[in-house]
Amino acid sequence: MSLVRELVCVACGASVAEGQALTCPKCGPDEGILDVRYDLDAAARTLTRAAMTSRPQSIWRYHELLPLDLPAGGEETLVDRKPPFEPSLRLIDALRIGWTPLTEAPRLAAAIGVRRLRLKDEGREPSASFKDRASAVGVARALQEGAKAIACASTGNAASSLAHCAAAVGLPCNIFVPRGIPGGKLAQLLAYGARVFKVLDSYAAAYALCTQACRKFGWYNRNCAINPYLVEGKKTGGLELAEQCADDPPDWVAVSVGDGCTVAGIGKGLAEMHALGVVSWRARLLGVQAAGVAPVARAFERGRLEPWPQQPDADGGTPDSRGTYADSIDCPVPRNWRKAAGAVRESGGAFVTVRDAQIQEAVRQSGRLAGVFAEPAAAAAVAGIAEAVRRGIVSRDASVVAMITGSGLKDIAGATRAVGAPHEVPAAELSAVEKLVADQR
Ligand SMILES: *Cc1c(COP(=O)(O)O)cnc(C)c1O
Ligand SMILES: [Zn+2]
Repeated sequence: MSLVRELVCVACGASVAEGQALTCPKCGPDEGILDVRYDLDAAARTLTRAAMTSRPQSIWRYHELLPLDLPAGGEETLVDRKPPFEPSLRLIDALRIGWTPLTEAPRLAAAIGVRRLRLKDEGREPSASFKDRASAVGVARALQEGAKAIACASTGNAASSLAHCAAAVGLPCNIFVPRGIPGGKLAQLLAYGARVFKVLDSYAAAYALCTQACRKFGWYNRNCAINPYLVEGKKTGGLELAEQCADDPPDWVAVSVGDGCTVAGIGKGLAEMHALGVVSWRARLLGVQAAGVAPVARAFERGRLEPWPQQPDADGGTPDSRGTYADSIDCPVPRNWRKAAGAVRESGGAFVTVRDAQIQEAVRQSGRLAGVFAEPAAAAAVAGIAEAVRRGIVSRDASVVAMITGSGLKDIAGATRAVGAPHEVPAAELSAVEKLVADQR
């Protein structure tokens, strides 16, 4: 038995019983996103600061707050369960996700104008993005439901993390990608042995085909947009951050936003740790979107989602006001905007948008001033803090955490746009090196 009590529709508030449906039967799969609710009183009895000192340093330390069955009475339980496809391994050993470092970045803080900045580097997850948290729970859920294969449609990190987790437990994995997926992410999928369908169209087309295929073949559907259990995996980012900052809270936590599920999950994790009494503080969430694709930021202001223009301008170009090169947050039709806007509002937080030029600057600064190579969507969080300081939303005296949601190695072409080319020198010509060194003095 898990401690899940019910699932609640974020649009109409209806309660749906566990196992009954993935989206609200009344509101449908587009609007009827569900939120998983737990018996927090029961969780508070065992999930204490004292108990946590002896638990594994991974997402499984929070098993009371995950939507996975635990045999009654037993606590170690989930962690001892063996994946059916790889019986020599325990789930906890196969999927070593989470407990990423939180590091001080004083020089980056000074550059972007805040008193204190800490980076939570999710580039150090096994597949090098925050999405591993969701995929691990997706795979555990699929195994629990007896699925024989799993699938998702993704522009990159959700897919590569799923391919990693599935390969780690021996579960067959099917991935639908749109055109234009960055090479690093595609290479990961193939390296992890997923069956990859490259749909020669947009993300929406890949998503639609994946949904059909899941229905037809009975594959477990890992699409975050409609599967409410995956945000529970993302929630571990907030649970963990709360624990890491328990006695030293930040004022703000900056998170880049595409579909909205990540910022919602982190907000939920922080809120649950507060509700459980593990921490006594709440931090404000700073949601950061790319200026060219900012439907969630706009919905936060207006209280409803409006269609985001997806057509390039009449001259055929795609100016900075349309689209973004940060592929992981290029999400013009977000499904989790209600959860995202709700979490940010409930935290007393704010949204900002940043242009691609600001994201590129943040990629350079994060690498040079903090030693963290962030993918564009991850660096957007850093750019967002700088922007929020400029606008007077975040005070210069604030202590801020930036979630670095993915590694720069995922998208070498994108990174190269921000960081430039090496110096070319002929072989055996120290004088050329001398000249460069002199010029740069
Ligand atoms: C997916 C992703 C995000 C945004 O998450 P959403 O749930 O889509 O809002 C941010 N950064 C990176 C690196 C991602 O992969
Ligand atoms: Zn509903």
